[in-house]
Amino acid sequence: MGVNLLPINSKLCNFDCIYCECGWNADGNPEKIQLRFNAAEEVHSELEKRLRELQSENNLPDAITFAGNGEPTTHPHFSQIVDDTLALRDRYAPQAKVCVLTNATLIQRPSVISALQKVDRAMLKLDSGFDETVKVLNNPQGDFSVAKLVAAMKTFGEKLIVQTMFLRGMYKGKPVDNTTSEEVNRWLEILKELQPREVTMYTIDRETPAKDLEKIPLEKLEKIAKKVRVLGIIADVY
Ligand code: SF4
Repeated sequence: MGVNLLPINSKLCNFDCIYCECGWNADGNPEKIQLRFNAAEEVHSELEKRLRELQSENNLPDAITFAGNGEPTTHPHFSQIVDDTLALRDRYAPQAKVCVLTNATLIQRPSVISALQKVDRAMLKLDSGFDETVKVLNNPQGDFSVAKLVAAMKTFGEKLIVQTMFLRGMYKGKPVDNTTSEEVNRWLEILKELQPREVTMYTIDRETPAKDLEKIPLEKLEKIAKKVRVLGIIADVY
């Protein structure tokens, strides 16, 4: 079950990934520029309502996942929402895992890192070990450096799960590919340093805002996953 902390008709993220299934930030549509966060109380009441419905249908979820239209940790009350969600999960669906998909840019904030450490699965994005590639793939909207991100990830501890999108194609007339040997080797060096408990790897699944991007074949992802496993790290391919 997905939880979106942002309204359905807008996206709010401090990245603007060329592959984001929510489209470009704002998308040039004035309606979409009226961004706002869903109030923590509203998230709590909607989630409780839905869990009650699912309980009455005997159809409780295996997972409650924060993803949605943007970066969930940018919500000013993210920490409170995580606490509320964990309490609701314990009450209605104790078997469900609480998961967060995050671009990890805000993990240096104590409230964000402690909230992420409370959930069952916080999956932190690392699409490349090179600043230049991150600039193209993820289009950070503020200061960003891989070195700073990796330093922050190191403080995350044993619950660290890294998530990586692999793709290739053309963007603004230039090739983009985070599956080259140079890219994969640098990424593996970082994983070796971080020793996450798990790496989740995936490729494009839906329409992307940048049009000339390609899926990476499953066999290629599996080859990369094998190299991760050699480091003693669990690697899952989706
Ligand atoms: S970090 Fe996630 S929500 Fe943000 S632009 Fe990238 S894919 Fe979209």
